[in-house]
Amino acid sequence: MSRSSKFLDGLRLAPVDPSSHLSLGTKAAQWEGAPSKAELEPATRQLLERLHDLQDVFHADGRYALLIIFQGRDASGKDGVIRTVCGAFNPTGVQVAAFGPPTALELRHDFLWRVHQVVPPRGMIGVFNRSHYEDVLAVRVRELASEDVWRARYDQINAFEQMLAQNRVIIRKCFLHVSRDEQRTQLQERLDDPTKNWKFRLDDLEDRARWDDYTDAYRDALTRCTSDAAPWYVVPSDRKSVRNYLVARMLVETLESLSLEYPRIDDDVRKAAKDFK
Ligand code: ADP
Repeated sequence: MSRSSKFLDGLRLAPVDPSSHLSLGTKAAQWEGAPSKAELEPATRQLLERLHDLQDVFHADGRYALLIIFQGRDASGKDGVIRTVCGAFNPTGVQVAAFGPPTALELRHDFLWRVHQVVPPRGMIGVFNRSHYEDVLAVRVRELASEDVWRARYDQINAFEQMLAQNRVIIRKCFLHVSRDEQRTQLQERLDDPTKNWKFRLDDLEDRARWDDYTDAYRDALTRCTSDAAPWYVVPSDRKSVRNYLVARMLVETLESLSLEYPRIDDDVRKAAKDFK
């Protein structure tokens, strides 16, 4: 076994442990000693091919829905991971939902109303670019609701996700964790590259100025709302190749754990098929 394949064996995300202090510093945004991009990319390509095949049987099996949630600060790579990793799936079996500021109508409902409507049905994969977690992140940090309102939401989210899990929605939640320096680099690129200017918003700078408040809010959300049924993963995201490998591997392992099967053909159909021959 080569040095890099041995290293790849250990390159795997672990669910957030609610009982330990979650470190969300610069180190956690990197994977020290991770293989080079040249080593990671072929391994990721293999995982993506496997993901494509697993989705086929997942869709045919039809017993479960899969909900993948991506959260992260601005420019942390949510769009990139969705394009690269979720791009491996057959688009017919995937629905992507992005959550921006709630509309006037959405604000007149409970915060989970808009979310529940786009939870994928069984056989489908749902990908969330941001999610109901904004209601304990942006809402908390920007003081868009009173503390008693957002504090009550951790339990509400846990109850909601538990209910989904009991209804065979498999939930996986990824926090794309970038360091402050890497976010600066990415935001600067948005300013420098005319094809990326449109992605830059003044709000991004306001949120960057509240870096530590967001760190506290993320730490609470990740430790208070992680469970066997709906685990959170901190994805070191300063390097795209590391991020993509880790997310792809976690998804492959998730789908493999479901013992998916192609449905057996009915006896009637089998007989008709024989006659057809
Ligand atoms: P993105 O920045 O992800 O490309 P948008 O600019 O459309 O997409 O919307 C994202 C913004 O919407 C973020 O600033 C996010 O904090 C905000 N947002 C999302 N959900 C909520 C919410 N429930 N309450 C307040 N702001 C929210």
